[in-house]
Amino acid sequence: MNITLSGKRILVTGGNSGLGAAIARAFAAAGADVAINYLDDLASAEAVQNAFPTDAARSLALSADVSNADAVKSMFAELDQAFGGIDVLVNNAGIDGVRATTWEGDIEDWTRVIDVNLRGAYICAREALARMTAQRSGVVINISSVHELIPWSGYGAYTASKAGLSMMAKTMAQEAAPFGVRVLCIAPGAIATPINADVRDDADTNRDLLQKIPMGRIGRAEEIANMAVVLASDVASYLTGATVFIDGGMSNYPEFAHGG
Ligand code: NAD
Repeated sequence: MNITLSGKRILVTGGNSGLGAAIARAFAAAGADVAINYLDDLASAEAVQNAFPTDAARSLALSADVSNADAVKSMFAELDQAFGGIDVLVNNAGIDGVRATTWEGDIEDWTRVIDVNLRGAYICAREALARMTAQRSGVVINISSVHELIPWSGYGAYTASKAGLSMMAKTMAQEAAPFGVRVLCIAPGAIATPINADVRDDADTNRDLLQKIPMGRIGRAEEIANMAVVLASDVASYLTGATVFIDGGMSNYPEFAHGG
């Protein structure tokens, strides 16, 4: 199946790094117009743009802290001006926060993770869905995590934000379905990006991580990005409200692989 998204206008938050950069590249390769949101590092956003195929359609780098409603409003106004609207939003920007048990952690750290991962996704989706429901088409994809399902000691805000994304997407999907708009989550397992470089660089934590993955390997960013393109396309026209886990089996109770 050959997926072409030419004429579709995409915004990827945190598109200047890791999964977001791979997702931006995959949409550009599918012929879409791609806007890369970045927090403060314009050079990295431009590097992603420069790596697009030479015959890629329009591209744009847009700065905004996704947790800042005014900045997000301005970003969507710039997008309207440059692309004339939006067809696909990928809520990818995220942080994992400072590792600490619930009772030792800092309230400000907890709030920052929720602000970026959950409130930021809400603010961006709010802008996008207003446009998509009016034009009666569009797709919102939220990058959640296997930790929308699997608890993770020391990262209570992260897990809460990702579980929140899942239910937020289901509710938005219900609201938007009558308008021909789909809302989904992708839940990646462990994918090699800067967010987990420290875990992969340490032999002990890397071995521990690999034991949790039935496929026995860490995923590649392209394996998430390609699925984002599929889910945004009409190949997935009847899919909404769902979370698609792409995790090498990590969420499939690997500890039961050899009997209970
Ligand atoms: P990354 O650190 O490379 O990318 C995170 C991106 O989010 C960066 O571009 C960063 O600048 C951006 N960002 C952070 N705060 C922002 C803000 N306030 N406003 C705008 N942008 C902001 O890590 P990644 O692995 O590519 O993570 C991307 C998403 O995938 C995150 O939501 C993460 O939780 C999720 N995820 C990653 C993995 C993995 O194994 N890599 C697994 C599950 C989920």
